[in-house]
Amino acid sequence: MKYIQILFILLFIQINSYAQNSNKYEVFAIRFATEKGRISLSFAAAGASEKDSIQLCDMFWLLVGNGKHILVDAGYPLNDYNKDWDSIYIRPDSALLRINIKPEDITDIIITHPHEDHVGGVNLFPSAQIWMQKDDYDYFVGAAWQKNGFNEGFYKEDVKNIVNKNLEGKLTLIKGDSIEIYPGIRAFIGSRHTWESQYLLVNTKTDNVIIASDNSWFYYNLENLIPITHYLFDPIAYLNQLKRMRVLQPNVSLIIPGHDPLVFTKFPRVAEGIVKIR
Ligand SMILES: [Zn+2]
Repeated sequence: MKYIQILFILLFIQINSYAQNSNKYEVFAIRFATEKGRISLSFAAAGASEKDSIQLCDMFWLLVGNGKHILVDAGYPLNDYNKDWDSIYIRPDSALLRINIKPEDITDIIITHPHEDHVGGVNLFPSAQIWMQKDDYDYFVGAAWQKNGFNEGFYKEDVKNIVNKNLEGKLTLIKGDSIEIYPGIRAFIGSRHTWESQYLLVNTKTDNVIIASDNSWFYYNLENLIPITHYLFDPIAYLNQLKRMRVLQPNVSLIIPGHDPLVFTKFPRVAEGIVKIR
């Protein structure tokens, strides 16, 4: 009898530790484009001096855990919209091969917002289930293209692609704030970078990481609590979410902005253009 009791206890401990570990993810940032020039800091941060400049890069993120390979955003392939951007570029699926991740390995893509530099690459990963905020999707495919709609940063081909994903049953729409997508991955809204852009809080073995994406372009925005100046519906809402992210994760380094090359100097490199966040 005692033997069986011990066996049950051991089994319970094992299941419990499995459940806990399955809620933890390894988080990687993958840089796929680096702008050759610099942009004025006043473009990136309200009230900054015209004379100061900042370098910009494009990245997406990979979460590994829970039996899944989840991308946060999908980058973009070169197309009519972006082919003249002056950057050092590698296609997102090719960048992932540097850590032996093949396109068909990607199980999910969580889109933080549907600007071309974040949603353009969805077709590069044929097996992936796409996740978006419902209100962001609705605006992207609808009101953005009506009179008085705001569609700067949107690309018509991306609209068609995401509608096709929906028709194929490969799109899951979520709605609201603090929504758990998978155990250990929670989505937050409120920044209004697009109609209803989202950011993620991800559990890792050591700490929680926030993937802010463009809900903060740079560490500069987070550190100084200064909103960006373009592509936003509500600067106060954006500022309030910068503040909220810093409450959710007081260590600013672990709040990963959408376009800051500093991400690739703060964390250990695992391959060219790829760092592990920890
Ligand atoms: Zn962006």
